[in-house]
Amino acid sequence: MDAQFQRAGFHEERVEECHGSILHLQCLKGCDLPPWSAAQTAVSVDVETLRAAEPLPACPRCGGLARPNILMFGDLGWDSSRANEQRERLAEWLEELGQRRARVVVLCLGAGTAIPSVRFHAERTARRLGGALIRINPRDTWVPTGQICLESGALAGLSAIEAALAQG
Ligand SMILES: [Zn+2]
Repeated sequence: MDAQFQRAGFHEERVEECHGSILHLQCLKGCDLPPWSAAQTAVSVDVETLRAAEPLPACPRCGGLARPNILMFGDLGWDSSRANEQRERLAEWLEELGQRRARVVVLCLGAGTAIPSVRFHAERTARRLGGALIRINPRDTWVPTGQICLESGALAGLSAIEAALAQG
């Protein structure tokens, strides 16, 4: 959602953002323009009111007001088309891994229990592919039987894995 994977160098087509992306906008009028990149859109904030200042972002097709392409709580207007395409690409890749009987490790970093959709997805994927789940989380440490949890922040956990791999 916050595009950290893309900023870290992951290719756009290798990421699933199940709750949308802060780097994309969608049309509030619903003119059917798919979500578009917000890279060229600057939104300034009025510091007195703490509200977005004019000009507000607009749909390039119909000129209607644009909004972030992010799923909010109780949000019935979120355009999930971009996320759906990402989900389909991921499903195809996971299917391919299953057909190849690839040895899979699912890393689950910092996904808490408050909104457990990412945790559940990681658990299901590891189970379905017969792979290992490594959860790295400083608080929500539960894992299914036989799986691994590193009780730490993501960077410390990943560094520990890297160090262990370097030792062979
Ligand atoms: Zn529009």
